[in-house]
Amino acid sequence: MDSLSTIASYYGSEDFDPAKDRLYEIAVPRLLDLFDRHHVRATFFISGKDFINNERTCFWIDKIIHKGHEIANHSFSHLARLSSRSNAVVEEEIAKNHQAIKDFFDVTCAGYRSPGYSISDDILRLLAKQGYLYDSSIFPTSISVLYKIYRKFTAYPKQGVSPTDMGPPLLFLSPREPYLLRNLKLPDGRPMAEIPVTTTRIGRLPFYFSFHLCLPEPVFRVMLGAIRADCINYVLHGTDILDFTKDRINDRFIARHTTIKIPLESKMKKLDIAMSSLSGRVNILSRDLSGEMLKTGIAAK
Ligand SMILES: [Zn+2]
Repeated sequence: MDSLSTIASYYGSEDFDPAKDRLYEIAVPRLLDLFDRHHVRATFFISGKDFINNERTCFWIDKIIHKGHEIANHSFSHLARLSSRSNAVVEEEIAKNHQAIKDFFDVTCAGYRSPGYSISDDILRLLAKQGYLYDSSIFPTSISVLYKIYRKFTAYPKQGVSPTDMGPPLLFLSPREPYLLRNLKLPDGRPMAEIPVTTTRIGRLPFYFSFHLCLPEPVFRVMLGAIRADCINYVLHGTDILDFTKDRINDRFIARHTTIKIPLESKMKKLDIAMSSLSGRVNILSRDLSGEMLKTGIAAK
């Protein structure tokens, strides 16, 4: 759930004024209403830099918690290419955000997702050491390399290296379904769980809303109907539910974001289709799922 100023700085622009950032106040009411209508509970991955100096954002995070959704750790500063940073930087990013969420909202995070899915064995080890029940940063998609090239040359040509590194290329061969990382032990001796972003069984294409938004509706409906997975980790972003014109986002850099200019009506229509198709399968919070996996010792398939 990245604010617009976080997205802008992540892609190398410092032009977006954080004080004018209204992402949470625009997107959260729409998301809460959507989840209420479909009886879905979701996990919101948040960053300290988005809320520590923004009372309106704190107000909406309180609402998210009050509605029974899960809050999880998305690192404090949302740095690009976290997996290539030193262990000291990563440890600080995770621990500082963990503490900020505890201090501001009295929530102890059980889960983590790296900015841009930038994950590594070292980051997973640090999470286990800090007692995290699960990580949800592995995105086992066959198009990760193509996506990096697209980001580099099409969407943000001036930034050179794509900030969205999605971890080592071979991660796309990781299991598609949640599994226990048996070599990574929590302080109590249990293994940590991985809840990967869902991909299709054939071709390992991304199965998440930001990608679905780019597809024609008939193709999107076919993908929804064809997905075969015991557990679906369906990713949405706050920007997926903005209306660039009506919400008067009015920022040239944000205007380059891939799906930002699709009118809200068509985004909401697709979201309603996705939620009604998946709601029977996505109402278990990541925290509860990982806790259940640790109890039953569920293994990778
Ligand atoms: Zn993010």
